[in-house]
Amino acid sequence: MSLPNCPKCNSEYTYEDGTMLVCPMCAHEWSPEDTSDVEEEKVYRDANGNVLQDGDTVSVIKDLKVKGSSSTLKQGTRVKNIRLVDGDHNIDCKIDGFGAMKLKSEFVKKI
Ligand SMILES: [Zn+2]
Repeated sequence: MSLPNCPKCNSEYTYEDGTMLVCPMCAHEWSPEDTSDVEEEKVYRDANGNVLQDGDTVSVIKDLKVKGSSSTLKQGTRVKNIRLVDGDHNIDCKIDGFGAMKLKSEFVKKI
């Protein structure tokens, strides 16, 4: 089992000292249970359960009504360069002809 990198300086030379982890590079000590100063990586999945990442290209899997507009985002519309955000609509993107909008990851699939 490998130890996590130091959350302060990202050194890989961490070692265990009792229940604590210690970094010899910056002398930071922390508890492996306490991940409060480590940014938690949130995972976003598309309709097929594939993990999405910033910059991915996805396609819309069903017709979606666009809020505040009479147009519909058609199934199969390609959305390039998505940005994942926290929230109910967890994809920030720009779509040709629509502009900036937010989508739910469950209504797209990775291409
Ligand atoms: Zn360190």
